[in-house]
Amino acid sequence: MLELYQAADRVEAQMLKDHLQQKGIETVIVGDHLSGAVGELPANIFPTLWVLEDRDLALAKRLTEAFFDRPPVSGEAWQCRVCGESIDAGFDICWNCGSPNPKENE
Ligand SMILES: [Zn+2]
Repeated sequence: MLELYQAADRVEAQMLKDHLQQKGIETVIVGDHLSGAVGELPANIFPTLWVLEDRDLALAKRLTEAFFDRPPVSGEAWQCRVCGESIDAGFDICWNCGSPNPKENE
């Protein structure tokens, strides 16, 4: 199980969880039980989404970025030399075929 995303609140975490589930990726929300506490608001504790299957992480990250329509991580996108897919900076492997970033080996 790998950490995918730290959500701002329970609602956001649940929205993303549902979205990924529709894509066939199983996730669990960790830490949200604290939000039910009455009278005590825990500081700096946010629900986090975890991917159950490690192999789903790269795809889940891409889906998460697309879901929130965030700009890509700083740096330039790279092109997979196996399948030709354009991969956002910040990903070490091709989300499409799982090949490593060739730049990592240079
Ligand atoms: Zn590829």
